[in-house]
Amino acid sequence: MTFRTIIEPFRIHSVAPLRMTTPAQRREAVIAAGYNLFGLHSDDVMIDLLTDSGTGAMSRDQWAAIQHGDESYAGSPSFEIFRNAVQELFPFKHVIPTHQGRAAEKIIFTAIGGAGKVIPSNTHFDTTRANIEYTGAGAVDLVIAQGRDPASEHPFKGNMDIAALDACLREHAGHVPAVFVTITNNSGGGQPVSLENLRQTSALCKQHGVPLFLDACRFAENAWFIREREPGQHDREVADIVREMARLADGMTMSAKKDPMGNIGGWLALNDDELAEQCRTLLILTEGFPTYGGLAGRDLEALAQGLKEVVDHDYLRYRIRSTDYLGQALLKSGVPVMRPIGGHAVYLDARSLLGHIPPLQYPGQALAVALYEAGGVRGCEIGTVMFGRHPDGSETAAAMDLVRLAIPRRTYTQSHIDYVIEVCQQVAADAHHLRGYRIVSEPRQLRHFTARFAPL
Ligand SMILES: *Cc1c(COP(=O)(O)O)cnc(C)c1O
Repeated sequence: MTFRTIIEPFRIHSVAPLRMTTPAQRREAVIAAGYNLFGLHSDDVMIDLLTDSGTGAMSRDQWAAIQHGDESYAGSPSFEIFRNAVQELFPFKHVIPTHQGRAAEKIIFTAIGGAGKVIPSNTHFDTTRANIEYTGAGAVDLVIAQGRDPASEHPFKGNMDIAALDACLREHAGHVPAVFVTITNNSGGGQPVSLENLRQTSALCKQHGVPLFLDACRFAENAWFIREREPGQHDREVADIVREMARLADGMTMSAKKDPMGNIGGWLALNDDELAEQCRTLLILTEGFPTYGGLAGRDLEALAQGLKEVVDHDYLRYRIRSTDYLGQALLKSGVPVMRPIGGHAVYLDARSLLGHIPPLQYPGQALAVALYEAGGVRGCEIGTVMFGRHPDGSETAAAMDLVRLAIPRRTYTQSHIDYVIEVCQQVAADAHHLRGYRIVSEPRQLRHFTARFAPL
């Protein structure tokens, strides 16, 4: 007997209240925030899909692990437990804990970056790109062509373009200190990278004598997609697929606020002794002693437990199916959504839904604000507000105008998601009434966090 309904593979053990608000209250809140959803107080938000980063629910066993945390400055047993859990999945020789993924990036690129260097990736995440460029190095995105096409149904839209990588490694021979692969490809819509593509990337890097690093934030979701979609992988344990991905690489950076199920944390892991030594020295400058890095002993314990839970097949089946559930329901009701549905988020195509609002009047912002006003659902504009302003002061339309609905791990139930579907359907049905926005004030950089808007 099989059943269609995928139930959450957990019971609720502790609850946080969700404050119900009215449209009038939300309208007042969003006006006070200058129509920027980053400016809201989160207790004015009912369903918060701004990000899946650090917003997941920890398990009973993670909270219990917190009590085991040993806060010794040096040589804490909590570090051993953390390192063992990391190496069980990622058998790299050196494991260096940091407070977040970007701290690991800052350290590795300080060590290997610099003017004249080039660091290719399938798609660099924004903090990764920023940390590379801050050292004067260049960040290059070489995802396959299908990865840039929102309508393509390719099963591994996060794949590296192997021919383009080969050309890049030849052109910049001697100036590429590492190649990065982001799994899953966050900036490309949470799309996975195949094992076959990772093998080819690894072989090419070896041929050119360049180390390969994983930006492994959503490694378990990526491994689940491999198990589901890649020929010959369906009978494997996810943990085993993860170990194979790790063995193809020479190191990794990690945000433990994603798949490791933490509210904070990250790490850098690698095999090269000399580089590890250099990175530990940098770690001590800005993060902390190598056995705690940027974290408390209790955080290390919670992450060690989270790493065991995230590779559980029941969890991953639920995780990927529940994101897909939201995406398919929206597609079925005619709301334009990026396809195929990724692992951690559903991306609404605001430019297509709000064809009457030109990109420079921010259709993504208009849709995100409408979802909030209508139902208290907070998504994140990923489009012209985020990418439209250039260092020379000019402004152009971004490649796409999307609203990302990111799903925090183990946090919302199916009825919460059914409510989100209804809110999206109602807003979409009334979409022709929505109007664009103009920017009233904005900072010089990263304007999407603090810009203020006015409706047109
Ligand atoms: C979140 C994220 C990062 C940065 O991690 P933080 O913990 O937010 O600093 C890097 N790469 C990817 C792919 C991410 O999703």
